[in-house]
Amino acid sequence: MTTPASTEHQPQGFGVTAETLTPTELDLKVLSAQLGRTVRDVVEIPARCVCGNPLVAATAPRLANGSPFPTTFYLAHPVITAAASRLEAEGAMYEMTDEVTDDEEKAAAYRGAHENYLAERERIRVKAGLEDVPEIEGVSAGGMPTRIKCLHAVLGHTLAVGRGINPYGDATLDLIAEWWTPETCHCDPAWRN
Ligand SMILES: [Zn+2]
Repeated sequence: MTTPASTEHQPQGFGVTAETLTPTELDLKVLSAQLGRTVRDVVEIPARCVCGNPLVAATAPRLANGSPFPTTFYLAHPVITAAASRLEAEGAMYEMTDEVTDDEEKAAAYRGAHENYLAERERIRVKAGLEDVPEIEGVSAGGMPTRIKCLHAVLGHTLAVGRGINPYGDATLDLIAEWWTPETCHCDPAWRN
């Protein structure tokens, strides 16, 4: 007898289970309200607020319009994106890039994050039934594997796969604690209307 449960993807993202990975109509509505545009090509909801709203949209590596899309874990929640933007305005990614350049242990961990990102994108691609996307082969997001260029991308990664994979997504999550933490809902009720 086969054991499908053992090969099934076991999500480690914040606030999700195997049962809540699949986007619902309400999820797409909330994501569209969060982003201010109609979302498409969402394959999974890999991270959710304690209230159930999506935090991140796992997006197909090729959009329905044909464009390659490298940001597999797209951070959608406006309170979190605003917090990451504040840190970027303060230049937090320069300190992180200096660290990853000088610290071999951190550099190795960050290369691991890059590999994880590519593996997750491949899983999402197969799940979406798409052909290979050669335009973005070997390209992850956020500056990985050697630089930290976009805190939204590395934070989206951490929220989607859990802590312990992306050291700079984890660090960003710590740094935004003043504005958002995984334990508290900062959602706008209007997103569901
Ligand atoms: Zn919420």
